[in-house]
Amino acid sequence: MIDIHCHLLPAVDDGPETVEQAVEMAKRAASEGVTAIVVTPHAFHPQFETDELNVQNAVAKLQDVLRHEGITLDLYAGQEIRVFGELVEALEQGQALSLAGSRYVLVEFPSDSVPAYAEQLFFGLQTEGYTPVIAHPERNKEFATNPKRLMDFVSSGALSQITTGSLTGEFGQNVQDLAFTFLRNGLSHLIASDAHSTGRRTFYWDDAKDAITKELGADKWDTYVGNAEAVMKDEFVFIDPPILPIKNWRGKWKK
Ligand code: FE
Repeated sequence: MIDIHCHLLPAVDDGPETVEQAVEMAKRAASEGVTAIVVTPHAFHPQFETDELNVQNAVAKLQDVLRHEGITLDLYAGQEIRVFGELVEALEQGQALSLAGSRYVLVEFPSDSVPAYAEQLFFGLQTEGYTPVIAHPERNKEFATNPKRLMDFVSSGALSQITTGSLTGEFGQNVQDLAFTFLRNGLSHLIASDAHSTGRRTFYWDDAKDAITKELGADKWDTYVGNAEAVMKDEFVFIDPPILPIKNWRGKWKK
């Protein structure tokens, strides 16, 4: 499996604090069948000072440590980029990184909103040849109350990524239900760990595989695994037309 969203760099953001912790995370990932990680530290995030970070160098350094430790895990550089007005320019100038040098850009919205300029920004990104990948839409309040907004992004060519821990209930029942609803309705296309540690915010790959196989079937799991591989290889990700989720009279998402 390829993990396209993971905070693996030590002492950079809210990921591991030490190299030892990063190594433990890498071991855990490998033990759950992850063969490659696109390392995605936060970028342009109001809470983390990562402007001066050279992600490529830091990833290369950590890769050396993993090789030395005998851990078979390929690392690639990326970023989880907090949405901001000059994102296209930042990518063009090399101040922001796409996922593993591909056309795919992992974009994070604030957890309680989706800025009004996002549609215009995504249009600009796509005009330059990039494909936005919306990080964990199931954890965003705006998408939870107004899934049409996510549907419009996806209909316009964006992809979205569900977090493994959301599927296992780590963020509560509502997030779990929404995660499966987005997958079922073709509003989300990728699964990634967004792991930060070997503690609560860890990989949950095994559990997520079980949950998806049970809820959506083994074929779906294979599709998501294949989609992540396509992202890493900068290949096209084929998706089904999205369907707008609706709630039943009890207020639960219809299956
Ligand atoms: Fe993240």
